[in-house]
Amino acid sequence: MTIATTNPLTGQVLKTYEPMSDEQLRGAIERADLAYQQLRGTTIEQRGQWLTAAADLMEAERDDIGRLMTTEMGKTYAAAKAEVSKCAAACRFYAARAAEFLADAPADAAAVSATRAFVRYQPIGPVLAVMPWNFPLWQVVRFAAPALMAGNTGLLKHASNVPQTALLLEDVIRRAGFPEGAFTTLLVSSDAVEQILADPRVRAATLTGSEPAGRSIAQIAGRELKKTVLELGGSDPFVVMPSADVELAAEVATTARCQNNGQSCIAAKRFIVHTDVYEAFAEAFAHRMSALRVGDPMDADTDVGPLASERGRDEVDAQVRDAVDKGATVLCGGEKPTGEGWFYPPTVVTDLDQSMRMWAEEVFGPVAGLYRVSSYDEAIEVANGTAFGLGANAWTRDPQEQERFATDLVAGAVFINGMTTSYPELPFGGVKNSGYGRELSAQGMHEFCNVKTVWIG
Ligand code: NAP
Repeated sequence: MTIATTNPLTGQVLKTYEPMSDEQLRGAIERADLAYQQLRGTTIEQRGQWLTAAADLMEAERDDIGRLMTTEMGKTYAAAKAEVSKCAAACRFYAARAAEFLADAPADAAAVSATRAFVRYQPIGPVLAVMPWNFPLWQVVRFAAPALMAGNTGLLKHASNVPQTALLLEDVIRRAGFPEGAFTTLLVSSDAVEQILADPRVRAATLTGSEPAGRSIAQIAGRELKKTVLELGGSDPFVVMPSADVELAAEVATTARCQNNGQSCIAAKRFIVHTDVYEAFAEAFAHRMSALRVGDPMDADTDVGPLASERGRDEVDAQVRDAVDKGATVLCGGEKPTGEGWFYPPTVVTDLDQSMRMWAEEVFGPVAGLYRVSSYDEAIEVANGTAFGLGANAWTRDPQEQERFATDLVAGAVFINGMTTSYPELPFGGVKNSGYGRELSAQGMHEFCNVKTVWIG
């Protein structure tokens, strides 16, 4: 893919970049390794000051950063600004909590015949981060903030369509005071990932992206014996049971499906509704979906902007066409607009069956699949019936059902009566083909630490 900024509102290419040469790439890895030698010797307090300064810069420059993100990938300006604020908050969270997360963890010395035994968390070195465009700042910051606090350095291979956001983040981290090379944006294509991972100085990789990219990186990293964290796709279920507040569920369902123009890994994508409340939910949901305003993402009135790429929109349209051709019913939307901008209308499709692509695949756009079920067991069967396991939603006011959903939904996160989202305080990640490993919270920080056992006799 060409490394370029292309405005999804107009299709206009605004800026292109030459990929780095092999020599430039080797130089960047060398600097990341040197910076690691330096960073690991600094105190947590010092790193916390730098990360806090990065948060201050993000907040001060929030509007400009937000505008850049909207221009590069089409999310609404309001959402882009909220994303910058969330990143600043995550930096502050790790700056404040790293000392606690990285503190030596005492073990039962007597049980292991020691006078002292404990676990010490130490950095491992430069980590490659391969990131997607959909939350171009947040996806990177949720890796970078804990990694830098732990004393690792970061090498970012960002998605080819958000190079300016990638360079901007590198600049913010440098201006915040981190040593030269502590966080570097590599302007390279995905072909270069193999070469980077083969470099002995690069110690691990984290990828947020699609399943094929995950398989490829895991394969290379396996050969190189390097740890990976993979945050891959999802087709999250959103189950609505008879005791649910149906109006509220329909309202949240609309946001959960259409946030970020429908391009979120943890967006609810399959709406599985008990037959007792199916008609009420379907009507309220389709009504709310069709009331969303689609348009210029810089406009304060816009709810849904264009999709990030023409290819992405064509894929969403092909998935809907496939379902319709095989007998599915469209309750609203479903027609790719003509004219400028890669828009796709909020869409609800029902009467789906297993022959249709939408049944098993992730739909990365504002398109909801609606399923009718007649029991708890059937709801679980449909909800767990894909290869993914990222997030899951269930709506029920029955405490026993809440407990059962928390156990029975096969996913990295279960949210009851609320929208799945990521918090710095909670671990984030998936099971099955949604990946492995966790980001955020103490668990996320420990993924790229040497969890060292220390035994003193
Ligand atoms: P993608 O094609 O996998 O791209 C993501 C990143 O991986 C980009 O930097 C891309 O570089 C790179 N890449 C692609 N193929 C690669 C390969 N074979 N080897 C190495 N790197 C490779 O993903 P996308 O379609 O743009 O993004 C949407 C996907 O990401 C969805 O499936 C979504 O669910 C998932 N996602 C998951 C999470 C999560 O936390 N679990 C969060 C957000 C998104 P180029 O841009 O240069 O191709």
